[in-house]
Amino acid sequence: MYSSPPVLEKLVQEISKLPGIGRKTARRLAFHLISGDREKMENLAQVLMEAKNKLVHCKLCYGFAESEICQICDNPRRDRESLCVVERASDILPFENSGVHKGLYFVLGGVLSPLDGIKPESLHIPELIERLEKENIKELILALGSSPEAESTALYIDRVLLNSPIHRTRLARGIPVGSDLEFIDDVTMLRAFKERVKI
Ligand SMILES: [Zn+2]
Repeated sequence: MYSSPPVLEKLVQEISKLPGIGRKTARRLAFHLISGDREKMENLAQVLMEAKNKLVHCKLCYGFAESEICQICDNPRRDRESLCVVERASDILPFENSGVHKGLYFVLGGVLSPLDGIKPESLHIPELIERLEKENIKELILALGSSPEAESTALYIDRVLLNSPIHRTRLARGIPVGSDLEFIDDVTMLRAFKERVKI
């Protein structure tokens, strides 16, 4: 059996730690990278570090930004009365790609999971409530996926806002249970968003 040089094996191991990358794919990517020219490899290493060094969390929505406030929060044309709450920063992408949401976002940073010790304070829930008190938000779209933890997080936020006039909605069913929002296709997203329902 062929055993690869340790340094190559180390590269394969690191790549296979990435989400959704199995060992076979990791090996294929590693061979692809080291077989390419040096310049391409240096470019990749450089943009990786640049992204890590320059990206910060937006102070308003906790999505990724290159300055204190991200381009979405900073855009005067966005509807400031509609706030879409997502679990992770990457969950903003399917909404933006399908162009379905014209309002703003808020990244919770996870979902509640008491068994894992993830309480409201572990997420950006206090900051969300504070923001809702300060801003003139009329609709809160809880787009947290359909895992049991995501469901109870949406219910928790809804309960906190029980006496609030803010209209609370959630995406329509149609997202496969437990699936990540980031893998949802545009058509499913459009439908799930347009047919969103009151919580
Ligand atoms: Zn932002």
